[in-house]
Amino acid sequence: MADTMKALVYRGPEKYGLEDVPVPKIIEPDDVIGKVILSTICGSDIHIVHGGMPEVRYPLIIGHEFCAEIVEAGPAVKNLKVGDKVVVSCVAFCGECWYCKQGLYAHCQKPGFGCFGVYGQEGCQTEYVRMPGADNYCYHIPESLTPQDVLFSGDILSTGYFGAEMTEIQPGDTVVVVGAGPVGLCCMTTARLWGPSRIIAVDMVQSRLDVAIKEGIADIALNPGKDDVVEIIKSLTGGLGADRSIECVGLQPTFDTALAAVRAGGQMSTIGIYEKPLSVPLNQVWAKNLKFGWGFVPMNRMPKLISLIEAGKINTNFLCTHKAPLNDIMRGYDVFGNKKENCLKWLVTPWEK
Ligand SMILES: [Zn+2]
Ligand SMILES: [Zn+2]
Repeated sequence: MADTMKALVYRGPEKYGLEDVPVPKIIEPDDVIGKVILSTICGSDIHIVHGGMPEVRYPLIIGHEFCAEIVEAGPAVKNLKVGDKVVVSCVAFCGECWYCKQGLYAHCQKPGFGCFGVYGQEGCQTEYVRMPGADNYCYHIPESLTPQDVLFSGDILSTGYFGAEMTEIQPGDTVVVVGAGPVGLCCMTTARLWGPSRIIAVDMVQSRLDVAIKEGIADIALNPGKDDVVEIIKSLTGGLGADRSIECVGLQPTFDTALAAVRAGGQMSTIGIYEKPLSVPLNQVWAKNLKFGWGFVPMNRMPKLISLIEAGKINTNFLCTHKAPLNDIMRGYDVFGNKKENCLKWLVTPWEK
């Protein structure tokens, strides 16, 4: 292995690019070193590079959604060996602390753990990643599947599922998903698992709505640019509103739409990343007897999601619109970050020398 590798390093708002950095080494006995075989640019990376997540310290290699091949394993590693191919949780967690024992892995408190490329860990938009306590959150890729098949279970698929799960969808429900970006599309994909009668996709970008309909993950698509979203949802539900409403963007107007679209006694969740303080009219939430869920994905559903993918119950390959080596990642930030070329996901393959 060489001493240096290529990595996308964040050095403050609007300051980021490819650099040569040292290849990570095993530090603790339960560490592994993974060669990144496939990664992505995530919407939260776009938030980070534009300074929208000021808590992110730098310099930092960013990126947190990836598959890896184990190239080195410390002596205390039990479940992983050199050559294993795994999909990795975006959060590195210890499995032992109070939060981990509750299944709230994203709140792991053990020093030295955290979210790859966001806090506590260097990220995956590079060639090699050090993964502390890797036994806890690296999942073997089933023989019948490719890295691409399971890639999103480590972040956006888990997040979309979490948004749907929090609303406790009942068979026959009308579900509205506000936001048809990658996370919203993952949310629609998994919302189907609970057997709603219809899923309504809402987004300003028509091409994304078209994808949701074409893939069969939404039944109705509404575009606030031309449709009166709340009125149409009410007319479809006998004047009531949707039974369940899931906000997947992280903006005030999308939150307001999701809230207005849900019926009294319904359930709403939001999984968007809010760059600005959100104003929540608790009087309306109270008056509607809403149950409400929100938060950062706990990352506790990866094994089940991988099983569902393996069984053919969910498939997210339609999101993979773009794929290029690490060499081209700056173009990926432009195309994905600025929603060019109908890009839904920019996948990153290994550096090509
Ligand atoms: Zn992400
Ligand atoms: Zn922990």
